Amino acid sequence: MVRKMGFYAVLAYVLYGLFFYWYLFHFADPKLPFEYQGTKADPSTFLNGRELMLSEEYSKIRNLLFFLSTPFEWLFYFLILLFGFSKVFKRWAENSTKYKVLHTAIYLFWLSIFAFAATFPLNYISYSLSKTYNISTQSFPAWMKDELIDFWLNYGTWLIIVPVLYWLMKKSKKRWWLYGWILSVPFTLFMMFLQPVVIDPLYNDFYTLKDKQLETKILTMADKADIPAKHVFEVDMAEKTNAMNAYVTGIGSNARIVLWDTTLNKLTDDQILFIMAHEMCHYVEKHIYWGIGGYLLLSLFGMYLTYRLMNWAVGRFGKELKINDVRDIRSLPLFLMIISMLLFASSPFTNFASRYQETRADRYAIEMTKNPGAAITSFQELTRSGLSQVNPPLLVKIFRYTHPSMLDRIAKLEEFEIKQRNKE
Ligand SMILES: [Zn+2]
Repeated sequence: MVRKMGFYAVLAYVLYGLFFYWYLFHFADPKLPFEYQGTKADPSTFLNGRELMLSEEYSKIRNLLFFLSTPFEWLFYFLILLFGFSKVFKRWAENSTKYKVLHTAIYLFWLSIFAFAATFPLNYISYSLSKTYNISTQSFPAWMKDELIDFWLNYGTWLIIVPVLYWLMKKSKKRWWLYGWILSVPFTLFMMFLQPVVIDPLYNDFYTLKDKQLETKILTMADKADIPAKHVFEVDMAEKTNAMNAYVTGIGSNARIVLWDTTLNKLTDDQILFIMAHEMCHYVEKHIYWGIGGYLLLSLFGMYLTYRLMNWAVGRFGKELKINDVRDIRSLPLFLMIISMLLFASSPFTNFASRYQETRADRYAIEMTKNPGAAITSFQELTRSGLSQVNPPLLVKIFRYTHPSMLDRIAKLEEFEIKQRNKE
């Protein structure tokens, strides 16, 4: 039975992968809808032939890797349970020390190491792909260093969450999901508060804007939007990537707007001001807080579903998965698998909400700067620097796009440009 289940799980994964290969490489039609052809949103008007070909190629492979990697996690956790590894990790932990407090830490260490090793090939392919297409400029040791920071951060986070979670399960068989969720609220807020000052600096250096002339322009604009000056930062990304980006992060007194130095190096001041105005909208309209609120609400529902699904899975397949009791640490891979599945299933909704905020930010930015020329060319440059797909296939958009496609974004700006011209 165990072998059969393992075989079917692998088969399902392979068929799923083949489906997406077919969908992305053969079914999806990269051609633009007729009404967009020849507009400023049409990549053939601003990319050269080689860039066009590379962006199509690169995006297709990236999209495939995206769809392969999350279900690969599920397969990994499923096989870890099915073939008794979870049981073995627990035994290793118990045999290695008589101190009970360390058992969970050691169990987690083994599970993390195996998960790291299993997902490493896909991560490495993704890194070397972006290197091949000249997006990433990071050396292998530097990339590996980031991977190791990821590993220890994840391990550290699990080390805080997992013992509490299993303690709650032992205390309350029926309500642990609710108590777990209640505790997750202050924990999430605390992590969001720490993110920009403790976690992000582990990966990159942050400082105030180096270009003082540009800084003055940005701060004048920030002033108009009521954003205190000390909340604008530049981050050192040029040694890692050629792509451009800017974002808003942190909460409370740690909230800040961050611009990648690649953005500052490659765009003109007017283009940067447009990007900056876009980020200011996220800041002013408190999109991060809406995001956290939505996430917490979803996670309440998610924790309840996880509780139900875990009980069901252990009741129905406990023997095959080698879990006698949900409250045994051996069930952790099942917990992680279900959480990952629920996150994936909810991503169309969270992406949709995010795209709504992004559309608002674009509109805010163009109304603030009133310079559609700079705005449109900044998006065209963004597309070129990241070899992004202007018009992604539907499933990619639904599951992967936290921003509207560049086709939609540029087309909206062009509409603004036409309206502005008609007024004059
Ligand atoms: Zn945005």
